[in-house]
Amino acid sequence: MIILSYIGLSTSNQLGIDELAKDATVKDKIDYHFNRSCVQLRNEGKRNIILKWQERWDQYQKERWTKLFFDRVNLTRVIGNFYLNQIYSGHGDFGEYQGRFFQKSATGRCSEEIETMEHLVKKCKLWSRFRVNWPNLNIVEMMQILSCRRDAVRIVEQQLTFRIEELDTV
Ligand SMILES: [Zn+2]
Repeated sequence: MIILSYIGLSTSNQLGIDELAKDATVKDKIDYHFNRSCVQLRNEGKRNIILKWQERWDQYQKERWTKLFFDRVNLTRVIGNFYLNQIYSGHGDFGEYQGRFFQKSATGRCSEEIETMEHLVKKCKLWSRFRVNWPNLNIVEMMQILSCRRDAVRIVEQQLTFRIEELDTV
């Protein structure tokens, strides 16, 4: 193989090849290099995108509510429930959001305090019948329990149903 490579090379190049060939015979390991495959490049690109996304998510000052539930970004996490998405995003039919974006009253129907998503799901007395046997946990821990999560979804669903009925009567 080395002999064939001598064809067409000058004497100085031949000397270089001879030295490399000689070096190769005394090495324990052979140096080699393969270019990265398409799959490797794609995976590396995906890793970089996730890292950048996580950096931006960590530095982002808004959406703190959502960060409570999801501190790590994820390419495969999909939440397809309309009401559950309102809870996690903090965007939905509750006073604080309606007040901020549509200049409506931020106080809920209970008139106790600003109707945040946490108030609506966890504290509002109007929906206490959905919270039977709820453990005394914070909202993040509570949302990790399937039965509580289902109850929370029912509260948001009922809240929206009530609002729609309210609009129909106006
Ligand atoms: Zn309330």
